[in-house]
Amino acid sequence: MPTDCLFCKIAQGDIPVNFIYEDEQVVAFNDINPQAPQHFLIIPRKHIPTTVDLTVEDESLVGHIHLVAAKISQQLGFAADGFRLVNNCNEAGGQAVWHLHFHLLAGRNLAWPPG
Ligand code: AMP
Ligand code: ZN
Repeated sequence: MPTDCLFCKIAQGDIPVNFIYEDEQVVAFNDINPQAPQHFLIIPRKHIPTTVDLTVEDESLVGHIHLVAAKISQQLGFAADGFRLVNNCNEAGGQAVWHLHFHLLAGRNLAWPPG
């Protein structure tokens, strides 16, 4: 596990962050620079740099992240209105933190296509 990874430090509790959700596999917390009224990051505790680094053994983990997004959307009351669950992969995809994460954005009408 890399010692210089920001999201590993957050997942391990080395950087104090209020988790809106946590379990054995993932944690979720507020994005520090929100792009919507509600903007959370859902990250695996396991260090995986990008989506293209996923292996077959991570299949259930990615499915779990989607179920966690659904659960959060229901608990916070934006499931019916709608939301966006998005992963930015590598530089052209807009990735800036090299630990797999999914953005969960809600609370406004989100434009399509993204910029
Ligand atoms: P991405 O561009 O997909 O890699 O997204 C990285 C996200 O991490 C950005 O939306 C940042 O605002 C967010 N971020 C960076 N540092 C922190 C932090 N310490 N706490 C919460 N979110 C962060
Ligand atoms: Zn990491």
